[in-house]
Amino acid sequence: MNKQEVLSILDQYGLSAKKSLGQNFLCNDDVIGDILDLSELDKTTTCLEIGPGLGALSEKAVDLCGTYVAVEIDTRFSDRLHAIIEDKGGTVIYKDYLALGKDDLPDPEMAPDVILSNLPYYVMTPIMLKVMKDFPACRKMVFMVEEEALDRIFARPGTKQYGPLSILTDLFGKKRKCFNVDGGSFYPAPNTVSSVIEIVAEGNTWNPEWIGFVESAFALRRKTLVNSLSSGGKYSKESILAALKALDIKETVRSEELQPADLVKMYEILHEGKDEN
Ligand code: SAM
Repeated sequence: MNKQEVLSILDQYGLSAKKSLGQNFLCNDDVIGDILDLSELDKTTTCLEIGPGLGALSEKAVDLCGTYVAVEIDTRFSDRLHAIIEDKGGTVIYKDYLALGKDDLPDPEMAPDVILSNLPYYVMTPIMLKVMKDFPACRKMVFMVEEEALDRIFARPGTKQYGPLSILTDLFGKKRKCFNVDGGSFYPAPNTVSSVIEIVAEGNTWNPEWIGFVESAFALRRKTLVNSLSSGGKYSKESILAALKALDIKETVRSEELQPADLVKMYEILHEGKDEN
């Protein structure tokens, strides 16, 4: 899809881009092709796309994969998406992804292998965290993000940007920045450069319960891990101190000093012998 096609689709359906919904439509066929190549869709793939918009990625993705489902907040796109997705056997759910429950899916047990999104930047972090929670068995995620968000996604321990997003994406799998996309590849063109990243699951060690745990470890970022984790009321100070001792970590440690693997070890000790159900 090029800029001329985007303009003509907007005109045909009487649409315009809503800035408040992060609508910057891809209009560069090379970039669209590169994202689809990266996604490695084939007839065995179940693909979930968040925010199909005018369908720059969806139009081809629906042909490439076995099962294609999209979640779009903006119902104004329904005629367009009906023509290019639903008429070809794909499904579109009109809903805020952040409010999506299992029962909204065509099959509540649906487990996408690939999750694809040119993310609406205003909700990038909550969407990334929710997909890791909702679809723990996902094999690959391909996301377009703002280049400046890479600092948070790839942050290392001890830095200001290090936190739940970098830790949890690290624990989910192997992540990689693939390439940059300039503003001119979108309509309307954003002021920032964007980047495509992939997160590929490694084995099946991921536990979505880590999300809440890591978030509470960072709830009081400036405090010690003991104060932050205990502030939620789920873990006592004594149990956290005992876990730190078992791992030979100082009592005054702050969450930002810990490696992702240390947080997992803390979680395991604190949950040892507990039936989570
Ligand atoms: N995929 C299209 C493309 O690449 O041209 C559109 C990408 S645009 C950056 C983001 C899309 O996400 C828009 O279609 C927007 O309406 C949709 N969106 C925004 N917030 C959303 C939410 N909370 N849940 C689902 N879709 C959302």
